[in-house]
Amino acid sequence: MLQPVKEDTPLHVEDRMQNKTEPAEPLLKVSNLKKHFPLTNVFGRPTGYVKAVNHVEFELHEKETLGLVGESGCGKSTTGRTLLRLTEPSDGEAIYKGRDIFKLNDKEMLKMRREFQMVFQDPHSSLNPKKRIGSSVEEPMNIHGIGNKNDRMERALDLLQKVGLREDQYFRYPHEFSGGQRQRIGIARALAVNPKMIVCDEPVSALDVSIQSQVINLLEEIQDNFDLAYLFIAHDLSVVRHIADNIGVMYLGYVVERAPTDELFSQPLHPYTQALLSAIPMPNPRIKKERIVIKGDVPSPMNLPSGCVFHTRCPHVMPRCKEDVPALEKKATGHFVACHLYD
Ligand code: SF4
Repeated sequence: MLQPVKEDTPLHVEDRMQNKTEPAEPLLKVSNLKKHFPLTNVFGRPTGYVKAVNHVEFELHEKETLGLVGESGCGKSTTGRTLLRLTEPSDGEAIYKGRDIFKLNDKEMLKMRREFQMVFQDPHSSLNPKKRIGSSVEEPMNIHGIGNKNDRMERALDLLQKVGLREDQYFRYPHEFSGGQRQRIGIARALAVNPKMIVCDEPVSALDVSIQSQVINLLEEIQDNFDLAYLFIAHDLSVVRHIADNIGVMYLGYVVERAPTDELFSQPLHPYTQALLSAIPMPNPRIKKERIVIKGDVPSPMNLPSGCVFHTRCPHVMPRCKEDVPALEKKATGHFVACHLYD
């Protein structure tokens, strides 16, 4: 049985003390997150911004899976990368156990990365092709100074077994594995430092459908065994429905609706969510459901519409939608929506 890493750090000690007094705090609370990428002309002068993430807020609790869904380009992957500070935020805060991770210095952030890990969409490009997979799994432990050489090897071998690979595959190279196996290696690598939260960025979208369910089942299994929280980013609503406790729907860099999974699927409130759900094929072709077709293209993130960003495509648009930005407000237990229809 794989044991959690025993090594202690000042961060862990501090957090345990804090948990004694504030047990109800979410693991992660994100408020008003923005990420705007500056654009420049050939002379290097600023010409505008690509507004990838404009207003993201959510809470993630221990052992919870929060799905983040939306069309390609809606800002969900940028949100995940910004939380790990693989790209720096333009504004907002992300409180993890009482500390704003956007305000940590490099040394503090290195310690924090031990608690936050990421599983990437493309398992091939996230592994060094020149390294044996055992070394790749051990690398995060090396970076964080966990254990000695033998401890690290023993843990890597344990992790490989835990994700469904064999110990003798420790010495093989990434090209010797299938896509599904490489994603298992990516998951083992993320687990190496015993994190509390993993950002899963489209972890199954590059895999064959037959392999997707195996990897999803593995993620669920290790979530139970390692007490993990997931921020699960995907465009496939069927996959997210299977794994997520709560779902946030994103459109043009905004979370427009967030609700417990069953409630979101049975009672979607935002017109965009309603259209997304209506496009999911029914398993039984005899059951007909009306598809809501959203007209027009997604506006450019360089030139966002005024008011509600969905107003250029919304079938229920009202005059005030073009002026006022709707706030994400609670409408039922755990159900938040940003739409003037519910004011
Ligand atoms: Fe549609 Fe207005 Fe609601 Fe936006 S605020 S989703 S435009 S009804």
